[in-house]
Amino acid sequence: MIYNFSAGPAVLPKEVLQQAAAEMLDWHGSGMSVMEMSHRGTEFMSILANAQQDLRELLAVPSNYKILFMQGGAIAENAIVPLNLAGLGNRAQPATLDYICTGSWSVKSIKEAAKYGTVNVAADARTFSPDGKFSSIPAPSNWQLSSDAAYLHICTNETIDGVEYGFTPNVSMPIVADMSSHILSRVISVSDYGVIYGGAQKNIGPAGLTIVIVREDLLGYALPACPSAFNWKTVADNDSMFNTPPTYAIYIAGLVFQWIKRQGGVAALEKINVAKAALLYDYLDNSRLYENRIVKDCRSRMNVPFFLRDESLNAIFLSEAKARGLLQLKGHSSVGGMRASIYNAMPIEGVQALVAFMDEFERQYF
Ligand code: PMP
Repeated sequence: MIYNFSAGPAVLPKEVLQQAAAEMLDWHGSGMSVMEMSHRGTEFMSILANAQQDLRELLAVPSNYKILFMQGGAIAENAIVPLNLAGLGNRAQPATLDYICTGSWSVKSIKEAAKYGTVNVAADARTFSPDGKFSSIPAPSNWQLSSDAAYLHICTNETIDGVEYGFTPNVSMPIVADMSSHILSRVISVSDYGVIYGGAQKNIGPAGLTIVIVREDLLGYALPACPSAFNWKTVADNDSMFNTPPTYAIYIAGLVFQWIKRQGGVAALEKINVAKAALLYDYLDNSRLYENRIVKDCRSRMNVPFFLRDESLNAIFLSEAKARGLLQLKGHSSVGGMRASIYNAMPIEGVQALVAFMDEFERQYF
């Protein structure tokens, strides 16, 4: 049995891959692969409409929000967000853009946004964390928000550092959230946010598709320099067909949405995700060899970085894990150690297999 702990692109539900394989050469009797269809033909238009509708249902997206299927990934959105919102309410240019910095992905977002506005880092987790690193989410009471910010940007799950918001901030400006690595893993209230965005390649499908969920009253404020294909209003007005959308990635995402519905929806998956995370963190907290260094109530349910107290064992840990079918556990180079990403498609049996292996390894080598 293989269990893939990659941070992304990441494991997809086996049933989805099997269905895609079965439909690869001939989608529903059309005589074509989805990859070969015109994006404006009735077949693909139905795939897109169903994917959009299923995502709307799964996240209970209110009717005054648009769901956009775009390209460029979350890194492109780091520019697309200020390009679309810095002109909000005809603000003075450059507009003030508030950001909370909680990890490597926030750092990138902030750097990019600074090209389009005056960034105010309202709180940097390193100032407040006990170890001076990205190991906690700063309490909102410590945020120095601007009175005139166009929006507040947060990254609700930091994939590399392994911290996750367990709360939704209550602020006066629209919240823009990068949810790339935990979207659909927990119940959220979309109406608490102005914009939610994320790359698909963790909980949704293949790389190449970017999801944007945007409140309608935030459309129409793009800076004049915003490329048309990145202008949310243009994309919304053309129902994600202004340019050729990433058709095959949308098709797979649609299959994943159907799979989530069959599991009982986001609430049902959240329960399993809570159980999976508890199993792994409890094991880490009681081990002599391994440790997770994130403040407890800020720990990510999706991305679990951990260290071996004897780092000289790292290489053998990874090679023995691989031999046991436990793949892609090496931590991000900026953090070191190990990281187990346990997205929706990772069954609890995968986490049990990981813990069993880690325990055996500890007994043998430590
Ligand atoms: N934000 C977060 C939270 C991510 O996890 C990632 C990818 N790992 C990105 C942004 C960047 O995504 P992409 O490379 O698809 O642009």
